[in-house]
Amino acid sequence: MIAALRRHEAPMASFAFESPRKPILKIEGVNKTFQNQHVLQDLNLEIAEGEFLTLLGPSGCGKTTTLNMVAGFLQPDSGNLFLRGLSANTLPPQKRRLGMVFQSWALFPHMSVFDNVAYGLRMRGFPGSEIPTRVTAMLEMVRLSSARDKFPSQLSGGMQQRVALARALVTEPDLLLLDEPLSNLDAALRKDMQVEIKRIHERLKVTTLLVTHSQEEALVMSDRIAVMRGGRIERIASPHAIYTDPHTAFVCTFVGDANVFDATIESISGSTAVLRVGSQRILAPRAPRADGRGSVQIAIRPENVAISRVGNVKGDNVLEGTVEDTIFKGNNITYEVDVAGHKLHVLDLPKVGQDLYRRKDHVSLAFSRESVIILDGERSA
Ligand code: ATP
Repeated sequence: MIAALRRHEAPMASFAFESPRKPILKIEGVNKTFQNQHVLQDLNLEIAEGEFLTLLGPSGCGKTTTLNMVAGFLQPDSGNLFLRGLSANTLPPQKRRLGMVFQSWALFPHMSVFDNVAYGLRMRGFPGSEIPTRVTAMLEMVRLSSARDKFPSQLSGGMQQRVALARALVTEPDLLLLDEPLSNLDAALRKDMQVEIKRIHERLKVTTLLVTHSQEEALVMSDRIAVMRGGRIERIASPHAIYTDPHTAFVCTFVGDANVFDATIESISGSTAVLRVGSQRILAPRAPRADGRGSVQIAIRPENVAISRVGNVKGDNVLEGTVEDTIFKGNNITYEVDVAGHKLHVLDLPKVGQDLYRRKDHVSLAFSRESVIILDGERSA
């Protein structure tokens, strides 16, 4: 039965760098202004068929405005929007073949789970004989078969969320829009639902556009992430590429923790750039961004720095410093270490019996040259 719902049986493609398949959605040079506020600025975006793409960014960067434009609730001031290659700037929402799940889920309280899911099919004039088969298969997909006769008030938050998802998916939309769908769930349930949505996406391969300000959600669920800032996309790439090569300090710190420093280039030798941060010499990989410029920004992720007692530590980069603060979180501990006036955060995963460091301890910090991320210059938001 579930097989009947699988529309795209093609093997999972890798979305490592660029979207390889034909676009379901294309946004071309779109601008939107609200009361003199330029909310979307020359926005360009493509989502390939079957892809799960996330718009990630801080509050007010234009994520929901973009989603509302794709849904047809707003029109661009200029630029173009294409759905399956056809101009959709003025296409009414109901003709866009979209499924939508919002923050509030918006279930009908007086309808059973079955009828909530069946509603979209009835509205779209699906033959009555097909409806039970489709709804049953979709409830099986979201693991709600046993709750089909319950009402929303009798369900947990996670179950209601799955009903909303089933209702959006049952009509087999060309594009599924998810607007912060997990933000009403508590932290544990949110993690479960991230995995659940990813599982469903892998089964059905429905092209999906998610809006969130949660970097964890974006990293867990997406094929590609578009990090937005000030109405523009600052970086679009796979979760791994975004995390390991974020390009800008903004993206770097938005998708994780990072120590960001201004550095000057002392010399380039083979594949290594020799940098200086204050009085410290840092070896970094030679990158196009570090070529021919006097100064760069660099980032070092806290988990890439090893901490130990001062002594026989070897490595590309070994710095000495003093522990200023410790933050214990059970399975990990963050040290704030002062290195010649620069603060460095170090993330350690201590094993049972391992020494913990305390304030004022003198320590060595070591990190490889490959772990030094060279960033582009900053633009103002
Ligand atoms: P959040 O995560 O808080 O929802 P967002 O990234 O989704 O933020 P948008 O909702 O797209 O941001 O809003 C972008 C900017 O546009 C904000 O400054 C917002 O106040 C403004 N804005 C959005 N809709 C309207 C509107 N209808 N009228 C006036 N200003 C608006």
